[in-house]
Amino acid sequence: MYFDTYTMTRVTTAVWYNEVMKIVLHKEDCIGCGSCASVAPDIFEIRDGKVVLKKEPNLNDPKILEQVKLAASLCPTSVIEVVK
Ligand code: SF4
Repeated sequence: MYFDTYTMTRVTTAVWYNEVMKIVLHKEDCIGCGSCASVAPDIFEIRDGKVVLKKEPNLNDPKILEQVKLAASLCPTSVIEVVK
């Protein structure tokens, strides 16, 4: 399930989740550096200068989850958050 929520406070947050984990993208802080797309090109891409999820990631797959966590750790502005 995918939500892209626009609030009255200009904060844009995209959330992708499954039963156990979720990815939260704090897109308002994205500077479009492309680091996430470099380490996880099947999951992230940059559109109009901001990160988006390229396709539905299967977070139950340990390899996918590891890629997402790596991308999150390398993001210079902490846009990508992986939470339970
Ligand atoms: S690494 Fe972070 S700042 Fe860079 S494009 Fe990805 S989400 Fe945006």
